[in-house]
Amino acid sequence: MPGGPAILIKATGKSLGDMASEDTLLIDLEGNLLERDRQARRRSLRPSIEWRFHTAIYRCRPDVGAVVHLHPPHAAAFAALKALPPFLTDEARTFLEGKTALIPPAPSGSRELAGAVVEAFQDPANQAAIIAEHGTITVGPDLYAAFYMSQYLEDASRTACLVRQLRGVSDGRDGRREVRRSAARGRRRRSG
Ligand SMILES: [Zn+2]
Repeated sequence: MPGGPAILIKATGKSLGDMASEDTLLIDLEGNLLERDRQARRRSLRPSIEWRFHTAIYRCRPDVGAVVHLHPPHAAAFAALKALPPFLTDEARTFLEGKTALIPPAPSGSRELAGAVVEAFQDPANQAAIIAEHGTITVGPDLYAAFYMSQYLEDASRTACLVRQLRGVSDGRDGRREVRRSAARGRRRRSG
C-alpha cells in the first residue's frame, strides 16, 4: 500500500447484516482514516472501536490477510463461561484443536484487550480465539478463510451445547444397549 500499510475495517455502529461496501474504512495501523475516506469523515463514520486489536494482529502476523470479530450466540455462551468449547467432532478437531486460544476478559476497545489478543495470536499456530465475556476472533490468509474459521468455532460451540442437552436424555451406555437390542431383534427376525 503506498505510504505504508493500511487495512479496511468496518465502521463502528454498522451491522454486518446490512452493511454496504462504503461502510468499510481504510485506516493506517495507528487507526487514522486515510485520504480515500475523506468522504467517510464527512459522513461522520468512524472505524470499529476494536481497530486496536485488528491492527495489532496484522502487525504481529504477516501470514494474516483478514481478521473476523463476531459475537455468535453459542460461542458467546462459552465466552460467558470463560471457556473454550470441547472439540467433539472430527471437523472441530481438524480445524480448531491446537489452533484456538482463550483470551482473558478486558474492556471493549481497550489497549488492555489489544495486548491480550496479541499475546494469543503471537503464537503462529493460533487461527481462532474466544475472548472471555465477549465473542470470537478468527484469522486467515483471506476473508473467506477467516470467516470459515468463525463458522467452525460457532459450529463446535453449538454441537457442544446440543450434546450437553442430549446427555440428559440418553448417555452413551444407553445408546450402546439400544444398538445391541435392535441387533438382537434383527437376528430373531432373520431366524424366525
Ligand atoms: Zn465485539
